[in-house]
Amino acid sequence: MKPSLLGCTREQIADFLRRHGDVPAFRVTQILDWVWKKRVTDFEQMSNLPPALRDELAGNFCLRPLEVQEMHHSQSGSHTRKFLSRLTDGELVESVIIPAAVGRGGAHSDRITLCVSSQVGCAFGCRFCASGMLGFRRNLSTAEIIGQILAAQDLTPGRIDNLVFMGMGEPLANTDQLLPALRLITDPSLLGIGARHITVSTSGHVPGLRLLASCGVPVRLAVSLHGASDEVRSQIMPVNRKWPLAQLLPALEQWNRTTKHMITLEYILISGVNDSLDQAELLASLAHRLNAKVNLIPYNTVQGLPWTRPSEAHCRDFCHRLLIHKIPVTMRYEKGHDINAACGQLRLRRSTEQHDE
Ligand code: SF4
Repeated sequence: MKPSLLGCTREQIADFLRRHGDVPAFRVTQILDWVWKKRVTDFEQMSNLPPALRDELAGNFCLRPLEVQEMHHSQSGSHTRKFLSRLTDGELVESVIIPAAVGRGGAHSDRITLCVSSQVGCAFGCRFCASGMLGFRRNLSTAEIIGQILAAQDLTPGRIDNLVFMGMGEPLANTDQLLPALRLITDPSLLGIGARHITVSTSGHVPGLRLLASCGVPVRLAVSLHGASDEVRSQIMPVNRKWPLAQLLPALEQWNRTTKHMITLEYILISGVNDSLDQAELLASLAHRLNAKVNLIPYNTVQGLPWTRPSEAHCRDFCHRLLIHKIPVTMRYEKGHDINAACGQLRLRRSTEQHDE
């Protein structure tokens, strides 16, 4: 399989050109323009390059490493759209386009967020997650991570200006591909999305956290906590047995010292599992220790899983406990509930359908 030009840095393209004849340096900028700005899908469209160079590139690289296969629109009024892409080896990956309904202060906002996947499937097996149910297939390449953003950009008239790595997979289990992708995405001469508009979410991958903190791209961090004690967390997140809170919390404190960015703790509220008011108290003390804010997410039903969403009144009580301790907290209802917009759900449905056929 040929590598995609999308995963190549300016230096890598320059190096390729040096090894393939006497090509002037300005060709690198022309090639990057065709790939990132004009977003061509065929080397023949690179009209200002000599035909021999176009052939040379076509013989060694591909352009788009994925093809959008299906699109689902939410009927809930949120305009959330989820698309499923086929990779060159036939694997499927999903991404979600989420327009902001309102901006700060209640004004209309044109901001568009893309939820990006980092792996096909996931090895981490969180009990409430559709991606975890399918197991791990493979890491996405740098180009496949970036390809989702360009595909989304082609599907929407607005500009994608926020990225959240909260799709399929544990991003920090794929730092070899994720970190180069972050450097390309934030490069002002390429996509130029500001690092502070990028959030990487992790289930608590401690070695990956340390690499991300020191990679030089100051992204924001969201931690899927979903349990405020080892006992509760290990029940629903097997990763906690490998990196329990005694290891995760010091790594997050180290993150605070290195980046000075406020961490977000994500907490899905699942009825009878992690929604006791004792857990709320423990969560408040963890958030206080980490100087973190908390996102509470009432559970989004996943086909084939037994968990349910707590009542609205109970969610409010849980939230109130955090507010008493002056923890910044937001209650988030996932957008696109009707299009299986929780991570991995659309791909899970497709795999089940294919299995049933
Ligand atoms: S929640 Fe994230 S880390 Fe856990 S199984 Fe799902 S994709 Fe993997």
